[in-house]
Amino acid sequence: VAAIEATGLTKEYTNGRGCRDVTISVGKGEAFGFLGPNGAGKSTFVKMLVGLINPSYGSATILGHKIGSLEAKSLIGYLPELYRYQEWLTGEEVIRLHARLCKMERSTADQRIPELLEKVGIGRRGRDRVKHYSKGMQQRLGLACALVNDPAVLFLDEPSSALDPIGRMEVRSILENLKKKGTTIFLNSHLLEDVELLCDRMALLNDGVILRHGKVSEVLNKR
Ligand code: ADP
Ligand code: ADP
Repeated sequence: VAAIEATGLTKEYTNGRGCRDVTISVGKGEAFGFLGPNGAGKSTFVKMLVGLINPSYGSATILGHKIGSLEAKSLIGYLPELYRYQEWLTGEEVIRLHARLCKMERSTADQRIPELLEKVGIGRRGRDRVKHYSKGMQQRLGLACALVNDPAVLFLDEPSSALDPIGRMEVRSILENLKKKGTTIFLNSHLLEDVELLCDRMALLNDGVILRHGKVSEVLNKR
């Protein structure tokens, strides 16, 4: 069974925008890049896959479970674009809040938090308030939250567009480690470099439709 299988997935907003007839399949452990300019429909597509908005047409599954179902939701992690925090909380508190939203036992969360902070390279800063974090640290904290339930499939919406080159490198190296450990990654980005460096296969989206898809090297060599 595929990690992500979408068939003719379509979202038509009332203004006619959205994304149209998207059919893709992502294998387990694969890193898939969804590349396209702002407004192409990347966020819309991912919001359907994580169950935030309902498709107008089409269907999709996560490891065989219908999108929007509890089973599907329990298997995924999601880092939205422009993740917003309650800035007065500490990094640890933000992760604990997410653990509670995932209905995780307090004791399990307490065990897991130091490990997560370490994994995203925040380590000792867990007790500092988020308002004292750099953008890069905030994004890595968002990643820790997305990883709290140890998801099999991770959705990332423009994880590095707001970051400087160092921040980008840091996020990229965390994602490379996750990929090595077998997490399936779905990466929305308008940055060719991000897709090229991390992904195995990709789709090129423009104005709501897929123009090309396939192996990254093949898609990018065709002119
Ligand atoms: P739907 O009918 O699919 O639910 P709507 O067109 O009614 O979608 O819009 C849903 C919400 O998104 C509304 O609150 C609307 O104001 C907001 N919205 C409308 N246009 C845009 C846009 N271009 N980008 C982001 N949000 C928008
Ligand atoms: P991307 O993530 O590639 O930047 P989006 O999925 O956010 O693209 O947006 C795709 C198109 O749909 C854009 O034209 C955007 O303005 C429009 N759009 C996004 N959300 C809404 C909404 N809620 N209602 C109406 N239009 C929307």
